[in-house]
Amino acid sequence: MICKIAGCGKPIRYKSQQVCQMHYFRNMRTGSYDLKAKSRQQRRENQKGYQLIWSPQHPLRDSQGYVYEHRAVMYRIKGDDCGSCALCGKPESWSTCHVDHIDENIKNNAAQNLRVLCRGCNVFRGRTPESYQNLCDVGLLEHEGKRDTAHGWSKDPRVSVNGSTIRRRKRKGWSDHKALFTPSRTYRGKAKARELERAAA
Ligand SMILES: [Zn+2]
Ligand SMILES: [Zn+2]
Repeated sequence: MICKIAGCGKPIRYKSQQVCQMHYFRNMRTGSYDLKAKSRQQRRENQKGYQLIWSPQHPLRDSQGYVYEHRAVMYRIKGDDCGSCALCGKPESWSTCHVDHIDENIKNNAAQNLRVLCRGCNVFRGRTPESYQNLCDVGLLEHEGKRDTAHGWSKDPRVSVNGSTIRRRKRKGWSDHKALFTPSRTYRGKAKARELERAAA
């Protein structure tokens, strides 16, 4: 009696499954008798945190059969022609274009967070507050003569909220001053807790 897997030829060690020892343990480890199945997770994350989807038929797949999720999402919208750069209008192709995460969160692959950029605009993006202003939907915030991005302001010692909170507030129409200096609810909660601790001590 030999292993039921085509081309194996090793003797059966596990009668109920009719497979050899090697195939039995491979199936236990990977959920498949197929050797290649080992690397075929449906979704994985690369070292930089980009999401990859197992998609061996996708036109934008890599040599391993994975496609970047953000590129796959954009491809579903645009089709074979990726259109032109969302900032400068330069015609682009899938082999040259960058699919940019507008909120800078590379795990946010929702369609409305993605746009096609040419290489120049993508490199340019975010380098200085002025260049960033064209790109960031809320622009620069100003206080006492200082102008900076939401992210830049979040590093200011006077500001207790992070960049995405500032941007969210600006999108809601808050003034620069309110968006920067209103403590967030959790921050206020912590401050309150500290206050109570001090009172108790
Ligand atoms: Zn076998
Ligand atoms: Zn461009």
